Amino acid sequence: MIILGSTGSIGAQALDVARRLECSVVALTANRDAKALEAQIREFRPQAAALADEAAARELKRAVADLPTRILSGPEGLRECAAMEADCALNSITGIAGLPSAIAALEAKTPLALANKESLVAGGALVTRLATEGRVPILPVDSEHSAIFQALQGLPPSPEGGPDISALRRIILTASGGSFYGKSRGELAGVTLAEALRHPSWRMGAKITVDSATMMNKGLEIIEAAWLFGLPQERIDVVVHRQSVVHSLIEYRDGSVLAQLGVPDMRSPIQYAITYPARLPSPVKRLQLAEWGSLSFEAPDEESFPAMRLARGALQQGGLAPTVLNAANEAANALFRAGKIRFLRITELVASALEGVKPTGDEHSLADIFAADQAAREYVQKIFKN
Ligand code: NDP
Repeated sequence: MIILGSTGSIGAQALDVARRLECSVVALTANRDAKALEAQIREFRPQAAALADEAAARELKRAVADLPTRILSGPEGLRECAAMEADCALNSITGIAGLPSAIAALEAKTPLALANKESLVAGGALVTRLATEGRVPILPVDSEHSAIFQALQGLPPSPEGGPDISALRRIILTASGGSFYGKSRGELAGVTLAEALRHPSWRMGAKITVDSATMMNKGLEIIEAAWLFGLPQERIDVVVHRQSVVHSLIEYRDGSVLAQLGVPDMRSPIQYAITYPARLPSPVKRLQLAEWGSLSFEAPDEESFPAMRLARGALQQGGLAPTVLNAANEAANALFRAGKIRFLRITELVASALEGVKPTGDEHSLADIFAADQAAREYVQKIFKN
């Protein structure tokens, strides 16, 4: 397999799964963490590895000069790794930076295990068209989407491949509620980055942890689900479930509801995406419901956390509006992490970008997607400075 974004939280867990399953690792990529990538290269001996950052790649090349692994660099190096021959490419890069790698894997006809939800949010039309036309499966790694994918497995196949979802009424994504669950807008005004990074149930990279705190993560997941399962946003519901044990649910038109459960451990959906359709033993702790006692469910608070409403609006608007939403969120999330804006300003900047940036390009063109992304980032920078 190929692991794109191997030095991150999901990347490291994917390598843990690969280690136990004794998968051979063909290629690894990251942004600039040469030290972590060197350690991974020494253990997994891939044919090639790439860093986006040129200087870091030169450092890595010197560090592993004793090994046969080819060291590549920059956007072209990342794409080359993603396009190598493999049974599965797992994309766990953060942000739209993962989109070119997703496209390279699909064009090489390699099944894509997708954690990088931003590539579907920003480029859903293009990514799903390439997958459908090339008959290349996209296997969700995000725990909610993996849960839905698993619950759909009993359905008969559709003529286009994949399960026939005509009997499906809606899907229900569960949301942990993030670090600031239960807080009013007044209470959210003064929250800090350190508080935002204290997630109740998952240990993840900083960007997604902040997205969970604003609940933009759930907004991105609504768009991700719309593309993965071909559903309009009205048929994608969200329920807050603090324990993160029920990973998501589907409802059939006869009213029957199926859920997928398990202890919160990303190695479960990662492994399923890699071994699908096989189910293999896993070291993940088994679920003992009696130990959990009770599980809670409630409606999300969209007054304190308007991000999901923004995401639904962008999805309904269509075209490149979700690209703008994603880019504005990446930019505002980064400004918050850099200590430059307050927490509540993140979603305000996203809302403002959705109003102020109206790209007219083609959502199937990678150049137009990146132009819309750039326009939204520049808009956020401009407003932030004024
Ligand atoms: P991390 O920040 O922990 O890791 C990100 C990875 O992407 C690192 O390997 C990083 O390299 C690499 N990367 C970052 N920027 C670039 C770039 N510009 N070009 C190339 N590579 C880059 O993130 P997570 O593992 O938490 O999340 C990864 C993806 O998975 C996200 O899309 C997230 O939404 C999704 N996801 C994560 C979950 C989790 O539990 N963590 C759960 C569900 C989905 P370097 O180390 O060199 O910076």
